[in-house]
Amino acid sequence: MGVMSFSIPRTIYYGEGALQKLSELKGTKAALVTGGNSMKKFGFLDQAEALLKQAGIESILIDGVEPNPSVETVMRGAQAMLEFSPDWIVAIGGGSAIDAAKVMWCFYEHPEITFESIIQPGSMPALRTKAQFIAIPSTSGTASEITAFSVITDTHKHIKYPIVAADMVPDIAILDPSLPMTMPKHITANTGMDVLCHASEALVSIAATAFTDPYAIQAIKLVLENLPVAYKEPKNLVARENMHEASALAGMAFTNASLGLVHSMAHKIGGEFGVTHGLANAILLPYIIAYNRKVSDKYAYAEKLLGIDDLSKAVQQLNKQMDIPTCFKDCTEVDFSEAKFLEVLDRMSQNAFEDPCTLTNPGKPCVEDVKKLYTSAFYGI
Ligand code: NAD
Repeated sequence: MGVMSFSIPRTIYYGEGALQKLSELKGTKAALVTGGNSMKKFGFLDQAEALLKQAGIESILIDGVEPNPSVETVMRGAQAMLEFSPDWIVAIGGGSAIDAAKVMWCFYEHPEITFESIIQPGSMPALRTKAQFIAIPSTSGTASEITAFSVITDTHKHIKYPIVAADMVPDIAILDPSLPMTMPKHITANTGMDVLCHASEALVSIAATAFTDPYAIQAIKLVLENLPVAYKEPKNLVARENMHEASALAGMAFTNASLGLVHSMAHKIGGEFGVTHGLANAILLPYIIAYNRKVSDKYAYAEKLLGIDDLSKAVQQLNKQMDIPTCFKDCTEVDFSEAKFLEVLDRMSQNAFEDPCTLTNPGKPCVEDVKKLYTSAFYGI
């Protein structure tokens, strides 16, 4: 395979009270980046500001990052950073807030470049000439606090761009289980299934190695054991902590081993129908495991280590416990009309086939395979 690399944040603080570590930071000015109002409402934003103050760090707030953050939001944040000159960027919130902050950081460091110039993987110039980056996730799902990825939407072209740059791996991740504790049930379910997809896709990826497998397998174990508990008992600290850590572990696996067909197909069906990413993943996962099992012995390897019979059945059971439907036609989150499905099927299958995540799926799926998988997952056959 040639020379490979494995990159993760230099420090990960985890466990109850981890947020307090903000008070030990060395620096002078911080830009706090957050989403809508959940971090404000539950008091985490005020806590973060107070802890930074304790460290002698003055802060400004860049808020209002929307779900699926836009290029405009990124540019607005970068401008505020240019005016304030922070030496730390502290992103606190869901994957959307952290993703947006990562790219704001890029335009703060390099105000002369354009969004178009960083779309190509690896094209982002070096960061950390002005600031370092801390990520504090409030959902247990995307693992943006660990990864070299950010997803930014061009709202004029209606395109979601995955931005990939090794320099965007945060310097510090803070995993405090009190933050995800306030997630409502459906967000717990959808983001939690995203973790399971990250881990199971990284496990069977053709870029998986001995460096990534242990993280993927441990993440699968933690999700199977803790997601149903976190869903039923939102205030269960142990389950929340285990899910938060599972998300980061899965992130360590997939940022280095990449993903597969579940993500390719979820991206495109999300684009066509507007279904939530984690929910689309959850519906697709059992079908893709059944398909990939023919060409990968890694599921059997993980099942043996974890003492489970069949990962696909375990996923189906988990979905059932959290009221996630078994197929898209039974999904009520958005309107999955059969007529529209049949109309977009060819285009969606071609686009999913061309998604970069398909490259690391085991076997060599063709467009026809993708089409069959969409059909199975739509009708539940
Ligand atoms: P999100 O950040 O969009 O948040 C979803 C909703 O949950 C928001 O309304 C938010 O206010 C609310 N919320 C967040 N934390 C909460 C809490 N603790 N309590 C109550 N409400 C809370 O959701 P997400 O799933 O974390 O992120 C999705 C984004 O991440 C998408 O744009 C997706 O494309 C991207 N993504 C990025 C990566 C990566 O590696 N960077 C990987 C996968 C997905």
